[in-house]
Amino acid sequence: MTAVITQLDQTADATTTCYSYTRIVQVGEHIVSVAIDRDACIDRSLAYVQLIDDQTRWKLLDDEPATTWWDTTPTPSTHVDAAAVLGPVANELLRRASTILAPAPTTPTLSPHVLDAVSALLATMYGDNGDRRITPDDIAWATTYGGRLHVIEHDEGSVTFTKAHREQCPFITSSGKQDCDDDCDFEHPADPQRRHGQ
Ligand SMILES: [Zn+2]
Repeated sequence: MTAVITQLDQTADATTTCYSYTRIVQVGEHIVSVAIDRDACIDRSLAYVQLIDDQTRWKLLDDEPATTWWDTTPTPSTHVDAAAVLGPVANELLRRASTILAPAPTTPTLSPHVLDAVSALLATMYGDNGDRRITPDDIAWATTYGGRLHVIEHDEGSVTFTKAHREQCPFITSSGKQDCDDDCDFEHPADPQRRHGQ
């Protein structure tokens, strides 16, 4: 997963001994700067990408060793189009930066109370020694049909597990404090007419 990259600024410069290219972009909510210095000497050539942090300091995110791109770039001269020559290196560093900065997929954590409620759900369905293996097909079926799973912990200690409501239903948006508006109805795979009340 990568974030949207918006260019904010870029500069390119070329002298007889060195050319350089910098680009400042917005990656999602972050400000990122990529800088490449192509010197006549490989040891003084650098390519790196930085993130500006909350204290407006630059922090290194990633770099690319000059050995991977120095040989394929022209010897410095004032005629070098630094943006064109170094752009691909910058693009690769920005691609990696956006991967680093992409928000991690959120993993919902289950409270012990919710896990106890899952235990109770199993026990009420299959007895207090309930034992049920859910197969990938079961999961695929359940995620294809009906609503998304919502787990609502009510103030008085009960827990609702439901696939019966759409995302905008007042029961979902109020975390169970308001009732369903009765507009939640999912087409059953075996009964496509049901949605139309026929
Ligand atoms: Zn509803």
